[in-house]
Amino acid sequence: MNVQKSFDDETQGALYVVPTPIGNLEDITYRALNILRSANLIAAEDTRNTRKLLNHFDIPTSLISYHEHNKLAREDQLLERIENGELIAVVSDAGMPAISDPGFEIVQAAIERELKVVVLPGANAALCGLVGSGLPAEEFYFYGFLPRKKKDKTAELDRLKGLRATLLFYESPYRIKDTLKAIQDVFGSRRIALARELTKRFEEFIRGTTDELLIWAEANEMRGEFVIIVEGGDESEQSAEDAEWWREMTIMEHVDYYIELDKLSSKDAIKQVAVDRNVPKRDVYQAYHIE
Ligand code: SAM
Repeated sequence: MNVQKSFDDETQGALYVVPTPIGNLEDITYRALNILRSANLIAAEDTRNTRKLLNHFDIPTSLISYHEHNKLAREDQLLERIENGELIAVVSDAGMPAISDPGFEIVQAAIERELKVVVLPGANAALCGLVGSGLPAEEFYFYGFLPRKKKDKTAELDRLKGLRATLLFYESPYRIKDTLKAIQDVFGSRRIALARELTKRFEEFIRGTTDELLIWAEANEMRGEFVIIVEGGDESEQSAEDAEWWREMTIMEHVDYYIELDKLSSKDAIKQVAVDRNVPKRDVYQAYHIE
């Protein structure tokens, strides 16, 4: 168990997680600027990128790189400084660190060492996209980037198909069309929205059905950054499908499944198959021995 009182002893060091704008620089908060100014060091995904942001706001704080490839090696160094009473801020290129960006590992490691972790609220593309989509926001599921390979993408979408929650995906402009197609293939046509270039001059929401958006995507050049927001599914469909997971199997395969995977005797496996299929045991027995 770990109980943190974030502001009871200001002399203690802390890890500050600081969101940065996803396009419009005015979206930085006063508090984020104060923290970035007073931090002993800023750990940044891309120091050149963050330097531009700091220059814009006249913040001279030193930067150190903290990205996908060095995050584990950097951790000890940063956490030791926090243990010595320093305030370290972590930022990513845009939006909230740790959300499809580096940050999670250092938060986890700091908590393990019982160091304070203070998260500032701020810009995040998924939440802006969700709220602007007009799709239900009371229950949502943030996925982030789907796998690139078609087979893996389809498998992940299949897994999400029955969720009632609105689904949120990040996607690169190069893969938007393929991903919309995969969504159509697995989910059929649902209400869906694309949130493009949020907070920037060319911000755009494209709201409609999957079929309509695919036509739109064929007719337009895919540029900029996108969030895909998809209406949730119907849980009852999924549970009916899950309940009949054996539908594509022959009776023999179904019985063998219980024997091989659940290690049932053939007698018990036949009994279970009869229950699953709601047919007499004798029919299963005959089919199993004849097939
Ligand atoms: N940490 C960020 C956040 O809190 O939103 C997300 C970083 S992730 C590496 C980048 C992805 O976020 C982009 O590929 C895109 O899907 C989405 N994204 C970031 N900025 C966006 C914007 N201004 N408009 C739409 N989507 C954006």
